[in-house]
Amino acid sequence: MGTNLDGWHTQAYARLYAPLSSVLGERTAKEFTALRIQTVGDLLRHIPRRYLSGTELTDLATLVEGDHVAVMAKVGNIERHSARPSAGRKPAPGRLEVTLTDGKGRLTATFFGRDHLLDWWSRQLQAGVAGLFVGKVGSFRNQLQMSHPEFVMLDASGRVVATGEEKALMAELARTGLVGMYPATAKLHTWKVAECARLALASVEGVEDPWPSWVRERAGVLGLSQALAAVHQPADLAEAERGAERLRFDEALSTQLTMAYRRADAATRKAIPRPRVAEGLLDAFDARLPFTLTAGQQQVSADILDDLAKDRPMQRLLQGEVGSGKTVVALRAMLAVVDSGGQAALLAPTEVLAAQHYQTITRLLGELGGGRMLGTPDVATEVVLLSGSLSTAAKKSAMLRAASGEAGIVIGTHALLADRVQFAELGLIVIDEQHRFGVEQRAQLAEKASSRPHVLVLTATPIPRSVAMTIFGDLDVSTLAELPSGRAQVSTVVVDAALRPAWVDRAWERVREEAATGRQVFIVCPRIGGQGDPAAGLGVVELAEQLRSGPLADLRVGVLHGQLPSDTKDQVMSDFAGHRLDVLVATTVIEVGVDVPNATMMVVWDADRFGISQLHQLRGRIGRGEHPGVCLLVTQAGAAEPSRARLDAVAATTDGFELAELDLEQRREGDVLGADQAGTRSSLRLLRVLEHADLIGQARELAIECVAADPQRLVPGFADAVRATELLSGGDWLEHN
Ligand code: ADP
Ligand code: MG
Repeated sequence: MGTNLDGWHTQAYARLYAPLSSVLGERTAKEFTALRIQTVGDLLRHIPRRYLSGTELTDLATLVEGDHVAVMAKVGNIERHSARPSAGRKPAPGRLEVTLTDGKGRLTATFFGRDHLLDWWSRQLQAGVAGLFVGKVGSFRNQLQMSHPEFVMLDASGRVVATGEEKALMAELARTGLVGMYPATAKLHTWKVAECARLALASVEGVEDPWPSWVRERAGVLGLSQALAAVHQPADLAEAERGAERLRFDEALSTQLTMAYRRADAATRKAIPRPRVAEGLLDAFDARLPFTLTAGQQQVSADILDDLAKDRPMQRLLQGEVGSGKTVVALRAMLAVVDSGGQAALLAPTEVLAAQHYQTITRLLGELGGGRMLGTPDVATEVVLLSGSLSTAAKKSAMLRAASGEAGIVIGTHALLADRVQFAELGLIVIDEQHRFGVEQRAQLAEKASSRPHVLVLTATPIPRSVAMTIFGDLDVSTLAELPSGRAQVSTVVVDAALRPAWVDRAWERVREEAATGRQVFIVCPRIGGQGDPAAGLGVVELAEQLRSGPLADLRVGVLHGQLPSDTKDQVMSDFAGHRLDVLVATTVIEVGVDVPNATMMVVWDADRFGISQLHQLRGRIGRGEHPGVCLLVTQAGAAEPSRARLDAVAATTDGFELAELDLEQRREGDVLGADQAGTRSSLRLLRVLEHADLIGQARELAIECVAADPQRLVPGFADAVRATELLSGGDWLEHN
């Protein structure tokens, strides 16, 4: 093995993870940060979006203003407007207007300059000859145009006939007749990217493949350096696709391998079994439950109780629509653990939600949650809330009771992860709304127990199977598919405020009607304050003021957003829950978990600023009781805008899985995995979890074989693949809000 591997076990990974500057120099490397490319491997996995052949004209009808494009087109008409000298002033520059055509549509390319430049361009650009033009699509007088595109001209067989500074690209075109068009930026043109990719490619040439040959053979993929050359310098499209296939396979197998090792690791961990104890808290709880569990709840509960009885830590994800009754299922698991002598911790993403869980759970438990005091049933336990907003004394006392074991159930936010919190016998961790938590935090809490606690993760974000395999591949997945019966439906309507401003007035009138029948209303706004920038839309604070002094003057209107002090937040939330407010104007702080069954209406302001999943999540806040709900999505977006299609989709169905898939199709997986918002890199550049679901499934099978063949992770390529996945994900894939 070579030297200076920087902690990597294979030469291939050491080279791929070398900083880009080591190949391109500091200055050029820096330009690539805009594309989130930092290493040689990042650049090599930045593959062409498409390939142009030197003979194929671009369909000009597909161009969109604002895009950076490379257009293969024929030169049509050329108009020259010479510089006009004008007395006493600087002469206006001359202009060359070149009409480009694909045989159907047209695009104008405009060049400005002095006469000698116009001469030069005129010589290059000859009517009837095809060329490749690269630049930004703009518009002038309603016509698409490009200003100063870079270009090369081609002969009839697609060979470059002009010379210029884009030598690398031209040589490529001449050699293969095929040129990759890279995702690029204004500063970093596609041919510059191509040139840099060529340098990166040279730095990994001939490097040994990190996968053992049996793995490659099983998968039927190209070797690594062969594949990289194939995507960046293909002889034909089929070769380029074979190269991309290998790179996608690498991503799929690396993630699946990481998950498989995690599962194998978990399987060797010991947990204290928490078998069901008869006539304990759980039985007492079931006896006083005012409803019967749905079949789904019973099945999932039984699976969980089975898991808890084993001496391996449970690692289970429970997904279910908002209102599908996950909390009750989780509580039953907690009670089973308390019955057998353990404690349970429940983590919520926000203080508001932690407080609400505390209320829900103490309410469901009734006297069973009152601690072991005189007069309480002898199976009772104590439930404590540990939140940042408690007084120091209250916090101290809650912590004491967690440490002594007096508290069977401890509820809080991630503050529970702070080192100071000790548990006497932590047996189960329930994490509500996993998408807010990173994998690392899960690990952090697990360390608090001498043996591993069981872990149950709850999420209301429906997750398509292939995504679950990718992101939660180390967890078993249970799904609550049905809502408890008697749950009323929510109907959703898009209110086109631009086309029909009167409908907005009608919406407020509808809010008043709803309040008049004793129901409550959420009004959700994308931002806290909209001051200063009119384009940003109204903020929560302003909207609430306008409503209070206008259409909702006779109602009790509260305001909730993340920047309020937490005791104010708690107060507002409890006022709304206690029906001391009719209307709550809020940001997405109410998105998850908030449970006010009397709330039956929601107005989402500037709804086009939300994503599909978020709207679905928000809508889940209403229709939680016996009364049907109505959700109004107010938007200024025109009927033709893409955001409008999202709203129509949300209005058309309440099926969370359908919406989750749609959402995924519309966004890059980078978004889903949190890379875009977090500004970090995702380990999935090429793999599309929906499109490549089969590949992910195959990789999962193969990963299981790899782990069986090498349980100690001695194969250098396996060790590196896992390290790379964990490095890139940083444990934070899931922070997607
Ligand atoms: P989730 O956590 O999945 O959003 P919850 O557990 O909060 O859902 O349940 C939503 C509401 O439905 C709660 O008020 C809960 O008490 C009630 N509920 C749960 N299970 C049932 C059931 N089987 N039948 C009737 N109501 C139920
Ligand atoms: Mg819940």
